[in-house]
Amino acid sequence: MQWLVVANWKMNPGTAAAALSLFEATKKASEKARNATIIIAPPAIFLPRLRTSYRGKKVQFGIQHGHFEHSGSYTGEISLTQAKDAGASWAIIGHAERRAVGETDEDVCKQVVRALTLKMTPILCIGEKVRSASGDHLHFIKEQLRIGLADVSPAKLGKIVIAYEPVWAIGAAEAMQPRDMHEMAIFIRKTIVDTHGKPGLSVKILYGGSIDETNAGAMLREGDVQGLLVGRASADAAQFAHLVSAIEKA
Ligand code: PEP
Repeated sequence: MQWLVVANWKMNPGTAAAALSLFEATKKASEKARNATIIIAPPAIFLPRLRTSYRGKKVQFGIQHGHFEHSGSYTGEISLTQAKDAGASWAIIGHAERRAVGETDEDVCKQVVRALTLKMTPILCIGEKVRSASGDHLHFIKEQLRIGLADVSPAKLGKIVIAYEPVWAIGAAEAMQPRDMHEMAIFIRKTIVDTHGKPGLSVKILYGGSIDETNAGAMLREGDVQGLLVGRASADAAQFAHLVSAIEKA
């Protein structure tokens, strides 16, 4: 199995020099990963510099967020078109931290469609804020998938990655249990099959939320996922190297 590992550096590190040094270390660790494809999503401002400094094949690049319009009067935004031009072939879309500042499922849907048009791989993030015994979170996830994938044709589903990131597990002390992720993966596939038919089975599913070297192996073995979206542990060179070794043993 070739796992997908998405390194979401978020708004880290603080300088271009530190980004280059984190990239050097990440690159070294990634080259040892025979069973994983590593996608680095640095702050967009560092992307062109990292991309042009890289001659290898092991690492691929992503953007943490991109606007669906090609260009226009959107102060402070970066478009998916610009990100592609800067070297990103993957796009994180609808991350919980973007949704928290107002991104809607409808915005997410437009970004997914634009990324596909640009031949970038959308990593569509979904996840509930809280869980309830009555299962309301399942309805919430169903709606995120229904709207987020509304304009995606079944034939394109194989080009989409879903990152299930329960908001309560992001930046938390502990990750979700692999058994619970397994159940969620079944639910996600069933939801997509209900709206898009059998091609829904080809969607790749990642888990994200407090993954590190201690829990990555179990999540990959037992969580019914094809990879991981990693926040904090990817912005620390030593932690990321340990994580990659754990994934190699999974
Ligand atoms: C994330 O923000 O996507 C994430 C998974 O963060 P962390 O690994 O720090 O929980």
